[in-house]
Amino acid sequence: MGIKFIDDFDFKGKKVLLRVDFNVPISKGRVTDDIRIKAALKSINKILETGGSLIIMSHLGRPKGKPDPEYKLDPVAERLSYLINKPVKKLDEITGPSVRKSVSEMKPGDVVLLENIRFHPGETSNDPELAKELASYGDIYIDDAFGATHRAHASISGICSFIKEKGMGYLIKKELDNLSKVTDNPALPFITILGGAKVSGKIDLINFISNKVDLMLIGGGMMFTFLKAKGYEIGKSLLEEDKLDLAKELLENYGNKLILPVDARIVDGIDKPETLRIVKVDEIPPDAIGIDIGPETEEKFSAKILKAKTVLFNGPMGIFEEEPYSKGTQKVLESIASAKCISIVGGGDSAAAASKFGFDEVFTHISTGGGASLEFLSGKDMPGIESLK
Ligand code: ADP
Ligand code: MG
Repeated sequence: MGIKFIDDFDFKGKKVLLRVDFNVPISKGRVTDDIRIKAALKSINKILETGGSLIIMSHLGRPKGKPDPEYKLDPVAERLSYLINKPVKKLDEITGPSVRKSVSEMKPGDVVLLENIRFHPGETSNDPELAKELASYGDIYIDDAFGATHRAHASISGICSFIKEKGMGYLIKKELDNLSKVTDNPALPFITILGGAKVSGKIDLINFISNKVDLMLIGGGMMFTFLKAKGYEIGKSLLEEDKLDLAKELLENYGNKLILPVDARIVDGIDKPETLRIVKVDEIPPDAIGIDIGPETEEKFSAKILKAKTVLFNGPMGIFEEEPYSKGTQKVLESIASAKCISIVGGGDSAAAASKFGFDEVFTHISTGGGASLEFLSGKDMPGIESLK
């Protein structure tokens, strides 16, 4: 694809700018889930072990282009230092004389972490001045921030115009290799399981994937907009009124491939799990809220999944965060695990669900990319990939 890979470089004596996605949850000054830090360790260790020094750049949260104590990277530096068993020099700035000084003093094996790159307004506006300044700190640029590849930001996109030596790290490569298993000639039959909150979040994915898949199994909150489009009563279930016409259109275009649930689990209120019951989708009472697919749907979906050679799971089948509403999601994930298939999970909440039910080591690939994986799977150009070419 015309992109250099981390293994193609000689890092000896070089200063390496590494963009990572350390956008991790932090509570009371501590990282509460370090999966995204761990995902970048392979690239970090490779560069350090082959004689390079590292200037690491990451964003955290959405600090609006100015310093915000809540989003400082100090807890991240502490966690990273523990994981690589090495000091990490965390700077309080992103650019300027003190950064230049710290960088100029670096020796092979040293690690510097710049402050949250989004404290600078030029990051999200892809300011060439910022990109140029960042590029001047290193000899080689490696991007391993898969979760941010859909952003045309200065430390991801702009920087590539100012540095000759650039390439991708192990995480991006692994994500692209695995996600391509569903976008490029997937093994057939190929089934996509779509759920989650809204149809609107998945329209591009549906349109892009529809001519590659054999079936699209629909669950989650989005099923109700489809059911409503078919003329069913859906009570107070999640509805995107303005997507009804689109849902009708999708049903017309892909009707033979779109499989809707036959039953649902409903409640009288999200906070009333004791009212949970199962109804056919044409028998949802006007006051009820659909919170999960039903058991008959689970069986129906399972029978189809078991025959698949490739499965893409994007979007939980119900409000899986609440234990009483998690059965459909768990059951579908179990069916994927039982199928002899390539199993790919994309989307942040879908990955969380797969993890929650213990499928981390079971599926072919659970993307760390969240929104980035969704955009890639929807066939969009990714600025973070394009600019490495
Ligand atoms: P992903 O992050 O994997 O792309 P989404 O963000 O599209 O997934 O959707 C995940 C969210 O959808 C979850 O928080 C889940 O609670 C919610 N959800 C699933 N089913 C329903 C439902 N029936 N009603 C309301 N929300 C739902
Ligand atoms: Mg989500």
